[in-house]
Amino acid sequence: MKKWSLIIDVEKCEDCNNCFLSCKDEHVDNDFPRYSLAQPRHGHRWINIMRKERGQYPLIDVAYLPIPCMHCDNAPCVKKAQKGAVYKREDGIVIIDPEKAKGQKHLVNACPYDAIWWNDDKAVPQKCTLCAHLLDEGWKEPRCVQACPTGALRVIKAEDSEMQKIIESENLEVYQPQYNTRPRVYYKNLYRHTRCFIGGSVAVQVDGTTDCAAGATVTLIKDSQKTATLTDAFGDFKFDGLEENSGTYRLEISYRDWKKKTIELGLLAASLNVGTIFL
Ligand code: SF4
Ligand code: SF4
Repeated sequence: MKKWSLIIDVEKCEDCNNCFLSCKDEHVDNDFPRYSLAQPRHGHRWINIMRKERGQYPLIDVAYLPIPCMHCDNAPCVKKAQKGAVYKREDGIVIIDPEKAKGQKHLVNACPYDAIWWNDDKAVPQKCTLCAHLLDEGWKEPRCVQACPTGALRVIKAEDSEMQKIIESENLEVYQPQYNTRPRVYYKNLYRHTRCFIGGSVAVQVDGTTDCAAGATVTLIKDSQKTATLTDAFGDFKFDGLEENSGTYRLEISYRDWKKKTIELGLLAASLNVGTIFL
């Protein structure tokens, strides 16, 4: 049986919020019997965009992480629902039955991704349905995917084996795998949100002027592990995809005939701009 999955490329999301707005356009004031009651105009964010800033000026970047319901294969919301009010469809989509779920406010806290919202007026928990009412009518993609101008969102309907190949070939990850819910939403370039970098510049003084040290070798050392890179034309370097709070690091810089320099960085808590290193 083919199942739906959503793929989100963190590097392509620019926080335009078109996904959020198209979700509102589809669901506010619109009941879809058996799928969902109308989404309130304010308060709910069925696709919620988180922000992460990394580094220090001038070496900083920002990444945006859209978070809808993950349509988990091992969904805590399904287990905690009474009267079968939340169920998993054969095609992978998780639906909150709008009638059976009435009054079940505890479901808001059942989701570790905070993807369930409480509708006070109708006394019902609500969330992203993957626009199942549209997919069941033959739509190829939900509204938010259709509205994304950068192609950051992509939906796929595939057999598990086919999806596994896509996960491996595109290096896809799930967000917060420690929740063990087996999400059907996969992220590309998730490191931009979950990991950190060490970066900086290398420069030298030549005849009283400062020059970028292009092509200098910078080696990052942690315990006995070494990773090396070359500085670019501006003397800049960056080691990305490091784990936060992952121990102490050291940098070694060598460039032509200049004396090799070693810098102890100490404990890496978050992304770090070491600034300009003069040899
Ligand atoms: S993300 Fe939350 S609401 Fe969605 S299926 Fe998983 S546990 Fe349920
Ligand atoms: S799939 Fe549909 S319901 Fe889910 S966030 Fe996108 S537009 Fe909203």
